[in-house]
Amino acid sequence: MSHVITLCGIEENQISASRIRAVLCRGEMRHIADVAACGTVMMIGTHLFNMFATNTLLKKFWRSDRIWTHSIFDRKTFKKIPLFCDTRALMASQYWDRKRIEEIQERRLRTLFEHARRIPFWKDALEPIALNEPLRPQMPKLPITSKKVFSEKKRAEYTDPALLPTSQLERTSGTTGKPFEFYHDRGYELRSYAICERIFRTVSGGIRYPVISIRARERMGFALMNYHFFHVRGFNSVRHRLHQLVELIRSFEGSVVLFGFSSWILELARLVQERGLTLRLKAVMAAGEELSDKRRHEIEETLGTKLYMYYATSELGRLAFECERHVLHVNEEWAYVEIVDDTGTPVPPGSEGRIVATVFDTMVMPFIRYDSGDRGIVSEDTCPCGRTLRTIQLKGRQITLIAFDDGRIVSLLDIPPIFDFYASAIRQFQIVRTEEYAFTVRIIPTPRFEMRKETIAEHLIRTLHPRADISWEVTDALTEGRNGKALYFMDQRSPAPVYV
Ligand SMILES: [Zn+2]
Repeated sequence: MSHVITLCGIEENQISASRIRAVLCRGEMRHIADVAACGTVMMIGTHLFNMFATNTLLKKFWRSDRIWTHSIFDRKTFKKIPLFCDTRALMASQYWDRKRIEEIQERRLRTLFEHARRIPFWKDALEPIALNEPLRPQMPKLPITSKKVFSEKKRAEYTDPALLPTSQLERTSGTTGKPFEFYHDRGYELRSYAICERIFRTVSGGIRYPVISIRARERMGFALMNYHFFHVRGFNSVRHRLHQLVELIRSFEGSVVLFGFSSWILELARLVQERGLTLRLKAVMAAGEELSDKRRHEIEETLGTKLYMYYATSELGRLAFECERHVLHVNEEWAYVEIVDDTGTPVPPGSEGRIVATVFDTMVMPFIRYDSGDRGIVSEDTCPCGRTLRTIQLKGRQITLIAFDDGRIVSLLDIPPIFDFYASAIRQFQIVRTEEYAFTVRIIPTPRFEMRKETIAEHLIRTLHPRADISWEVTDALTEGRNGKALYFMDQRSPAPVYV
């Protein structure tokens, strides 16, 4: 292909029928005519394929999740076909005009609502919605949902039994301190791969580099190809596994994209500096804890590459990604994101509020107007990168870091998995830090708690700090935060510590 382009003297994206005709009319060498004909065929082919690929976003024609998620197609090879189409479409649609993006949202909302009507909870909730009219203006008629709303109901009320056997059960404590179980179906997984592909390509200038994902456990829906999972147990195990990670990065001929929680990437940067290592990195991607500009700069400086954040939650998937200008864009082909006030009414663009999202591909358990637990501002201002997807600024995510005076840092994200693991012994938890190394764990226990008490304390000490002193307090209600949301970590040291 590059040979053809060089002969014509025409850049790939500049080939047009008129230019090719102009070359032919001048009666130049015959092989140029051949090359031009070849270019025309390729141009038509690309055009047809793009037409087809962009239609896949709208679930038209034969591209249907039902086909590609059928058990007979449950192989990587087959999944690559819709993945290829979806990725191609998403790379184009991020630059489409607003009207076209909104049209996609309308169509995808309609498909979701039509499906959700089979589910008892949604059948009632969707009653006031007229499906033949524009749906986005009708969204305020629907309730705001949350972990709390679903936790109080029976599973059969909010899930589709037909999709449950093939869906993935996920569990999270998130920021509520209470394990919450939810489901993602194969259609969600399939679309999620393409959303990730767009993020991976964006961080490395449109080209897909190998990705090394540093994670505590492998989750579905990340990437199907050129993706390498690197297991760490938590923040502190980055140090213990540094040698293996460096070896893995160096085993690639070229550069790689590194991906992990912010606190882990920060720890990696500090270790790299401490030991004077050099890594060939194309970009670094981080999710989870918000990073201050100072820490961000520290990572970029030490690792010698750019850092990109993205915004995701366990239930709603990847809601926004950073562009080349480091502005967060909403994945609007994936979810309809609203910023609402405490009554659930949308606020005007540019105003701060709660982030609620409706994810189009959550058929087994629809997440419609689901409260992310985070706050933010959505803007309709244009971004210099040229993308037309709306931009979002996050405000005060609750995820932070626990710092000790000896320099040890623990991510709050490391705590919920411990309680997820002991869910049979503890129903809800809340950790209160009372002194530098003293923690009171308030819990709502189950009858099995006494049996597991020592083991859970040991696990907590291993994660927090070897000097941590754990005491238990049994309660029947935990302190709630703003908007009735439970808090799973509180710092009540006196006087309050000052962090830079
Ligand atoms: Zn941008």
